Amino acid sequence: MVISLFFSFNLYQLSVQELDRGLRRPETSYTNSQNPIPSQIRDTIRAQREEIYVLARHRVINRLVVTNIMILISGGLLSYYLAKRTLKPIEEAHEAQGRFTADASHELRTPITAMRSENEVALMNPKLTLSEAKKQLQSNIEELEKLTALSEGLLRLASLEKSDLKLSVIPVRQIIDQAVGQVMTHAKKADITIAQEVPNDANIAADEVSLVESVVILLDNAIKYSPKKSTITINANAKQRTTTIQVRDQGDGIKASELPHIFDRFYRADSSRSKTGTEGYGLGLAIAKNIIDTHGGTLTASSKLGKGSVFTISLPSKI
Ligand code: ADP
Repeated sequence: MVISLFFSFNLYQLSVQELDRGLRRPETSYTNSQNPIPSQIRDTIRAQREEIYVLARHRVINRLVVTNIMILISGGLLSYYLAKRTLKPIEEAHEAQGRFTADASHELRTPITAMRSENEVALMNPKLTLSEAKKQLQSNIEELEKLTALSEGLLRLASLEKSDLKLSVIPVRQIIDQAVGQVMTHAKKADITIAQEVPNDANIAADEVSLVESVVILLDNAIKYSPKKSTITINANAKQRTTTIQVRDQGDGIKASELPHIFDRFYRADSSRSKTGTEGYGLGLAIAKNIIDTHGGTLTASSKLGKGSVFTISLPSKI
């Protein structure tokens, strides 16, 4: 607006000067001429010119005022639109932060409330036996383990930084062997076979510990959401620029409507919440995705309900 007013003022000055020159100065030409115009006609011409001059000045002022009002309105609207657009990501981040805090508090409160009410009931029982007390302590330990897992997950999510990654080119087989080794007991307990299809010469550029962690999360989920006696296949495919690791299961699958949300923090599909024996807080995939994103790679999922799911990690083959 200041710029517009500055230009308008200059334009007004210039216009007035030009009007002045065009409508007032030529008077000298007819007063100096050899055949002077009669004074009556001269006065009429002068009055007419003065009238035109005043009218023209008013027109200039009107135009400039209208133009400035239009600039003010359109500038205001444009500024409002741009400010809204600029603030949108900040607003979204703020909302996500609020949701995250609410979800985290809810998840933390649930085991604490359970522990508290169980302990109160036990304390109110005057005939509490030693074995009952031991059972109660055991239940407390289980709730504490859940709380520990939750707080570790939250800390892991908060601490993932690109600068912490120690990137190196590692054989994919090394990563997969370590990850499979970590979930083997769990898979055997669930009577699930893990098949590997990994070429010997496939390499991947990654931070070894973090990549193993994300593959373990995918394998753990595959075991959790697969039926007994099914097979989980983990394969790798190395191309010149990108190496992919795929974890494929023959499990429950994920609904198409739920697929876009599974990487959100604290998201658990309804079927997983209601199914007994599939404990979790919905943080695993968020951590795995965060790790892969921090590497500059991608983690994607596809699934067919009742047939199984495929999770794919894509990372550069070289640094
Ligand atoms: P959770 O601790 O619940 O396993 P995750 O973040 O690891 O949390 O997964 C989020 C949700 O995605 C799970 O609750 C489950 O509904 C779904 N999910 C993840 N992996 C699979 C899979 N392999 N098969 C079916 N559903 C899966």
